Amino acid sequence: MTDTPNGLTRRQFVASAVAAPFVSRLGALGLRQDHVVVVGAGAFGGWTALALLRAGMRVTLVDAWGAGHSRASSGGETRVIRAAYNGVPVYSEMAARAFVLWREAERKWNRQVLFRTGALWMFASDDAYVRRSIEPMKAVGLSVEQLSPDEAARRYPQMSFRDVRTVFLEPEAGFITARAACELVRETFVREGGQYRQGWARPGTAAGGRLPGVRLADGSTLDADRVVFACGPWMAQVLPDVVGRRIVPTRQEVFFFGTPEGDTRYDASTLPVWVHIGERLAYGVPDHERRGLKVADDTAGPEMNPTTVDRTPSEAGLAGARRILRQRFPALTNAPLVEARVCQYEASSDGHFLVDRHPGLDNVWLVGGGSGHGFKMGPALGEHVAGLVQGRASVNPLFAYGRLRPRS
Ligand SMILES: Cc1cc2nc3c(=O)[nH]c(=O)nc-3n(C[C@H](O)[C@H](O)[C@H](O)COP(=O)(O)OP(=O)(O)OC[C@H]3O[C@@H](n4cnc5c(N)ncnc54)[C@H](O)[C@@H]3O)c2cc1C
Repeated sequence: MTDTPNGLTRRQFVASAVAAPFVSRLGALGLRQDHVVVVGAGAFGGWTALALLRAGMRVTLVDAWGAGHSRASSGGETRVIRAAYNGVPVYSEMAARAFVLWREAERKWNRQVLFRTGALWMFASDDAYVRRSIEPMKAVGLSVEQLSPDEAARRYPQMSFRDVRTVFLEPEAGFITARAACELVRETFVREGGQYRQGWARPGTAAGGRLPGVRLADGSTLDADRVVFACGPWMAQVLPDVVGRRIVPTRQEVFFFGTPEGDTRYDASTLPVWVHIGERLAYGVPDHERRGLKVADDTAGPEMNPTTVDRTPSEAGLAGARRILRQRFPALTNAPLVEARVCQYEASSDGHFLVDRHPGLDNVWLVGGGSGHGFKMGPALGEHVAGLVQGRASVNPLFAYGRLRPRS
């Protein structure tokens, strides 16, 4: 959830979203459609594949293990959606567009995936993260309300505000179901005419500044006019020379604690999503689908290999989560741990996304670097990538390849 303030951007995302319908009815007319291969069916790749398909292209989506699997960054139960973003306008704009698109998708799916609980922002001291977001949020029709800690304690008596100096409520915010939504996107993509293949993809042999397609581990090849790599924490494994240490997977642990029987004070009917920013950033999501109250520390953990790492949570991680639980929910101090997950951030060198053309291959696009805050943006990001691939949008400098620095 780390961002740096940056005033670089304006409304390219929304603009690129609306120009698609004209692009291609070639398929319907029996003419050749450009074929795009999208590698990765997580939040970034799945939505990108769907947006490209809806923009009239022939699309094959490939994933090694499936949409929102347990090793993917998009796996797990829930992800926070919010538009307060440290005053970076492009993220508030994208989040506003994402709210609309998630709602549209829910109507199509006839299924709720976005739970609007509000997000409660709590600060031990410096609250600039939300204060400087107020204007960019207002510009896209979203609001934040400031509460005194006393008022917050009256509204949310199940929480403690003892070390909290300022509180803001972002009423439109909430959480999205994660793995379930990824699979819904993949199913929708297939239903609307996209091809899905399961397998590990490697770039083909480039020639003349272009990639002819990808090779799958079973020996087959997929020829493509354009290729999008949306490989999440595997970006560097798939493209070691180009991505290398610009995006590294960091180990993140998430804990779910059991709530008292019959007690609804910790579920989405009563409790908002919350974030506390003090020396560290801690956050939590209400009990959803009876998994327990989710608590996590956003601090980047050690680097890890997303394929091979053992996902047993650490004692230190659990002790940290218990500290957070005690601090925010004193009545749950002795609550039992009921579930835990080890996930990873695909952390870019500055915490911003990577959405740009490959530096050496004209027909290849790189989409990743979600850095612990990408999930919510999936539908808006997918539209933007479709715009880039079709030449209707331009690269946002905040997401440009050239600004990333390899970590030492
Ligand atoms: C603990 C945790 C909490 C988070 N909280 C939030 C939050 O509250 N809000 C929010 O918005 N975001 C949050 N995020 C971040 C968000 O989940 C990620 O940024 C986002 O899911 C990244 O999606 P992705 O598609 O880039 O990656 P992934 O979901 O990892 O998808 C990449 C896919 O590519 C496939 N793949 C990779 N290489 C290959 C290959 N060579 N061949 C075939 N397939 C391949 C993988 O199998 C995988 O399915 C959180 C992340 C974590 C880990």
